[in-house]
Amino acid sequence: MKNFEEIGLIPALERVLKERGFTEPSAIQSGSIPVLLEKDTDFIGLAQTGTGKTAAFGLPLLQKIDVAKRVTQGIILCPTRELAIQTFKELNTFGKYLKGIGMENVYGGTPVHAQAKRIQKNAPHIIVGTPGRVIDLLKRKSIILEDVRFFILDEADEMLNMGFEQEIKKILEFASDDANTWLFSATMPKSIRGMVKKYMNDPVEVAVNKENKVNKNIKHYFTFVNRENKFDKLTYIIDKADDLYGVIFCRMKSETEQLAKDLNRAGYSAEAINGDLTQSKREHVIKRFRSKKANILVASDVAARGLDIKNLTHVIHYALPDTFEYYTHRSGRTGRAGEDGISIAFIGKAEVGKVRRMEKALKISIEEYKVDLKPPTPE
Ligand code: ADP
Ligand code: MG
Repeated sequence: MKNFEEIGLIPALERVLKERGFTEPSAIQSGSIPVLLEKDTDFIGLAQTGTGKTAAFGLPLLQKIDVAKRVTQGIILCPTRELAIQTFKELNTFGKYLKGIGMENVYGGTPVHAQAKRIQKNAPHIIVGTPGRVIDLLKRKSIILEDVRFFILDEADEMLNMGFEQEIKKILEFASDDANTWLFSATMPKSIRGMVKKYMNDPVEVAVNKENKVNKNIKHYFTFVNRENKFDKLTYIIDKADDLYGVIFCRMKSETEQLAKDLNRAGYSAEAINGDLTQSKREHVIKRFRSKKANILVASDVAARGLDIKNLTHVIHYALPDTFEYYTHRSGRTGRAGEDGISIAFIGKAEVGKVRRMEKALKISIEEYKVDLKPPTPE
């Protein structure tokens, strides 16, 4: 395995990685970084959740920025605000020894006017944001795409799921002919192939372990529940795990708040997150969860993608998601950067077929997690 210097990174970047304790590149990093550094090409990078895709595009992007030119050169688009914030922070850390590099984080739910002015004035080298806000700033002629050479779509398939297709198309249409698009994800459903054909030019594709999209460090379980015993099963699992630090995924936004309330009433420390909350509330919740002030996050699928929180022990699907892709991404919040994790799906009796199909499709095994709710019989 080559180290970061051998795959072509400059000392200013290598130094941060050393400080961060990244001793060697992950597979997607050693597959992508040299190609992106050497070639000006469109690019598709596919690798499991939690395998370091952010650095796989972030490091070559930082290295390719011409810092002396004060124009926007790279745009990273992310499907959710939380992910835009996380990615921005990660890039900022990576770039800390690059003198004079400017970056800006843009996403909805925050005041736009002052930001538009600032971007116009500073022309940050890199903009990390959500498609909606980027379009807004383009309309205001605050972001100028003329000199943008790199468009990065992180979790591109999810941006399509969320209905950002028009925004992305518009942004890519604005792009100059010699700009490159880099697309990164753990999953690549058919829906996105059409867009790839239309907007990408002969992309180099690097796929790590193509067959297995689910990170192998995750152990998968299912357990049968019904409406009456669901909550008790949940608290049983929480009690049984010592020091559970986990995300519970619900299908409905309203459900997340109710469940968090019920958990808090039962003496647990839970926070809810969903797309209906205000931006400042969303950030507050993530902050409390990251700092472990709350050890349980009850989430809608807004949190299924990309979020990188250290040492999560459990992902619990309080109900199965609609698609196998969502199962992959939800479960992928745990078992990151080589750590272990547990995913438990709550299912009804009729859903066992779906679980078996999921095992086949995702090439994983999902065992039954036996939960005994009966009190122990006295001797
Ligand atoms: P992905 O986008 O593939 O889901 P992330 O980019 O969020 O994964 O990275 C997952 C975690 O792994 C992050 O906490 C990141 O800091 C860490 N990480 C990334 N690359 C390395 C590496 N080469 N060595 C050690 N840790 C790494
Ligand atoms: Mg990611």
